[in-house]
Amino acid sequence: MRNVTEDNKGTSGIDTVELFLAHALTLENEAADGYQEIGDSMAVHNNPEVAALFFQMAKYGRMHADEVKGLAAGLTLPHIPPWEYAWQDGASPESPSMDKVHYMMRPAQALALALRAERQAHGFYASVAETSKVHRIRDLAAQFASEEAEHVRLLTEWIAKYPDPDQHWDFDPDPPAMPE
Ligand code: ZN
Repeated sequence: MRNVTEDNKGTSGIDTVELFLAHALTLENEAADGYQEIGDSMAVHNNPEVAALFFQMAKYGRMHADEVKGLAAGLTLPHIPPWEYAWQDGASPESPSMDKVHYMMRPAQALALALRAERQAHGFYASVAETSKVHRIRDLAAQFASEEAEHVRLLTEWIAKYPDPDQHWDFDPDPPAMPE
């Protein structure tokens, strides 16, 4: 079974504030873009309730990205080639898995998807906070980890508000035409 440490093997190599902020900026931007895309899709498919949840999550990602840009003011962030990021599987930790998106997704499922992304983001920052050799990076990462923990807490609250969908949640009497 994978765990936080295995998923984030590369975090001990994040040894400059610039490199850490570059990782954080990509993570937050990709999270915001992913949430926005899912929200747009939900809105198009007439699921405004779920769309609103994802737009809210996208907003958090953009706010966090702005915070990172503020911290990076006066610094030159490195351009990191995709294969050199500290995360292992190519996708940044907070980008929601688009393959799990369904146009009839219910709030409970959308929230579960977002929760998974937020937990991964928390895991990434927590791992940096534990493994970096640089004090300033450990401090920043711990601060970001606690913000992600707050998102996890918030989502957990939302999840409690929405009942589990019944087993026929994806039954559509008039399904959209799907390309082959
Ligand atoms: Zn977050």
